[in-house]
Amino acid sequence: MSEMLLITGCCQLVTLRGSAPRRGSALRELGIIKDGALLLREGRIVAVGKRKSIERRKDARRAKKFDVGGRVVLPGFVDSHTHLIFAGNRAEEYEKRIAGATYEQIAKAGGGILSTVRKVRAADAASLFARANDWMNDFAAHGTTTVEAKSGYGLDAASELKILRVMHALRRHARLDLVPTFMGAHVVPPEFAKRPEAYVDLLVRKLIPYVAKEGLAEFCDVFCDRGAFSVSQARRILTAGRACGLVPRIHAEQLAPTGAVRLAVELHAASADHLEKVNSVDIRALAKSDVTCTLLPGCCFHLGLASYAPARKLIDAGAIVALATDFNPGTSPTLNMQMVLSLACTQMRMTPAEAISAATINAAYSLRRADRMGSLEVGKFADLAVFSVEDYREIPYYFGVNRCWLTLKRGEIVYPSGT
Ligand SMILES: [Zn+2]
Repeated sequence: MSEMLLITGCCQLVTLRGSAPRRGSALRELGIIKDGALLLREGRIVAVGKRKSIERRKDARRAKKFDVGGRVVLPGFVDSHTHLIFAGNRAEEYEKRIAGATYEQIAKAGGGILSTVRKVRAADAASLFARANDWMNDFAAHGTTTVEAKSGYGLDAASELKILRVMHALRRHARLDLVPTFMGAHVVPPEFAKRPEAYVDLLVRKLIPYVAKEGLAEFCDVFCDRGAFSVSQARRILTAGRACGLVPRIHAEQLAPTGAVRLAVELHAASADHLEKVNSVDIRALAKSDVTCTLLPGCCFHLGLASYAPARKLIDAGAIVALATDFNPGTSPTLNMQMVLSLACTQMRMTPAEAISAATINAAYSLRRADRMGSLEVGKFADLAVFSVEDYREIPYYFGVNRCWLTLKRGEIVYPSGT
């Protein structure tokens, strides 16, 4: 029985117990246990409850004990939207934007997504792997235990497959869970600038079936927006993905209202992400659907935009709302979910409890994993993050600093390293 671990000293054990996904007022129900304890075995939660009742169990008496010193314990964050695999950075573009350059001007000068594509195409797999593995450790250091990752900085067959194979290697090597998404439809690559339909053909006929057959992705995503892919192109791509078993996700209504949300609802997509420009008709459609609305406030913050996605309207209408970092070098270079919670609270008027539900159980639901992660309940993975605070509301309250003290993935300490 020595493999059992008893965790005590949780001044607030934020369990998120209950049904998934959370809508409306249920987002504020965190299932907090004061002076809580957890009993873990072989990476799973065996018991959760008040310290006194857990300590009384026969198996708990024989367990190895770990006191977290009166801190707040949460399910590890589930970051359900990242572009993890990239090379270089876009700090130069960041400075140009501050000086007033527009996205179009930057793209014309060779910047934007395509500048990262050039760097990724030139990078070898080993360097992409090393960089992403470092990022995975940083995710763990900030309390994240599961990371969704999209391809999409390759945009040709060889480079997209290189990225997906790096992810595949990371899934075996890294201690956090990595959920792979194929996003060959990020933007139209320069070689196909004059014939975007030919690129869609390549994705639909060759790449998607191959990626699915090789088991290199679970989801298929499309940037369906002004300047990227049209609704009809996105429908072709996501339908082809679904036919091969890849579940659809969509980058929707970020730059302009295009009809991408209606497509997400029509295709029963796992998530519609961004939604900065979503209108009230589409909010009602989302609220009636099972599509998770994944909001990415880090992106608006980094771009210095005045308006964010209408989180309040979505929650009040009854939509499933999740939060993610959108970690990427162009528009959201952060992997800190605590900062995303701060932005969700101050910029989108979500309550701290709503933000925590959105970053854990609802994000797990959007990744089709709510049965094993996103809450601290018996049978689920022992994925948890411990914060040096006395009240969960302090997690978004302290913005831009890391209050994470310890992260466990399937019962193993993944942060701090060497513990
Ligand atoms: Zn994105």
